[in-house]
Amino acid sequence: MKQMKTKRWQLHGLVSPDHPFIREAGALLLQGELIAFPTETVYGLGAIADSGEAVQKIFNVKGRPADNPLIVHLAEIETVATVAEDIPEEAWVLLETFAPGPLTLILKGKSVLSPLVTAGLPSVAVRIPAHPVARSLIASVKKPVAAPSANRSGRPSPTRAEHVLQDLDGRIAGILDAGPTGYGVESTVLDMTVFPYTILRPGAVTLSDLQGALGEGRVRLHRSFDFAPTVQEPERDEAKDTEDTVPRAPGMKYRHYAPDVPLTLWLFNGKTLDSGSYDVRTYLMRLKAAFQTMVAEGVRISFLAYEEDLPILKAALGDTFKTLHVLNVGRRSHPEEVARSLYDVLRSLDPEVTDRAVMLGLREEGLGLAIMNRLRKAASEVIA
Ligand code: AMP
Ligand code: MG
Repeated sequence: MKQMKTKRWQLHGLVSPDHPFIREAGALLLQGELIAFPTETVYGLGAIADSGEAVQKIFNVKGRPADNPLIVHLAEIETVATVAEDIPEEAWVLLETFAPGPLTLILKGKSVLSPLVTAGLPSVAVRIPAHPVARSLIASVKKPVAAPSANRSGRPSPTRAEHVLQDLDGRIAGILDAGPTGYGVESTVLDMTVFPYTILRPGAVTLSDLQGALGEGRVRLHRSFDFAPTVQEPERDEAKDTEDTVPRAPGMKYRHYAPDVPLTLWLFNGKTLDSGSYDVRTYLMRLKAAFQTMVAEGVRISFLAYEEDLPILKAALGDTFKTLHVLNVGRRSHPEEVARSLYDVLRSLDPEVTDRAVMLGLREEGLGLAIMNRLRKAASEVIA
């Protein structure tokens, strides 16, 4: 692929569509170039959404399968009607409540965008990001911007400008660098073309947030989240609820977020170290035995640990603990910390110094459901 010089603009503090860096990046977007920009979730890779040529570049530089559609980013709630039609009244309720913010709505599409954006689907995914740099950039071009996460396909999403450059330096025109992103996991994707409205990808706007806004029976998780042992789901009408009537996000079928080192996700029968009902001693003994076997085989282990677990693990594992390369992912009691650090930690795993990464499960509710969804995709092995 043709190499180019990737410009990096560093932005601090307040920005507006008139900021010289935003204008420069916006002008490049309008010329059909790709610009990476921060959102409150992860860094996005933007192209003008009505230019087929520009949108095609996104698929090329990411190595993204053409059947995986892109999210259309807008600056203002009112402009949703320029790209979607037959918008249900409840979509406006959700937009009033959660936009701008980490919520993507799947709506019936209007044919104003390049068909590449929607991968030929009759629906369109729309989001109004909250990050001031993202909003300023979209406002400055006065057009919808198609943007997936700014990583090579299959890699962990970028939460820092450095991550974007690791994957795409020399392949894109520029990156607006405003430091680390806020949430650290991608937006919640809610399909509003089916009923009950269905969460296709969990994120920071949770099932209970959405049910709180619309009522409990009106929003549910996609059935692929049925493994979630601690999540209470509303009763379903099985007759209406066939796979045919529940389209999945095309992106759900692809491998995602894979680190360079194989990751083992340890669930222990769906229980976690903080679930009171489980015999924590048995849990720790199994963990110690597994680590001892690996260490005896010369496997160098990186252990992605929740902060509160460290004293318990240190005491229980004894000398075995000392052989682990421990990476702190934040407190399990504060899943927002884990979400924010997760992709950075996954990207830091270096096959030169470590053979296997190990992480324990989190409670699959609220933001924990979003984290576990990403971890299940990132893991090469899930021990139930
Ligand atoms: P990304 O932008 O790479 O973080 O992923 C966007 C997600 O939204 C992917 O899982 C897509 O498959 C999904 N998506 C985008 N547009 C649609 C659509 N029209 N219908 C269903 N899912 C969609
Ligand atoms: Mg992505």
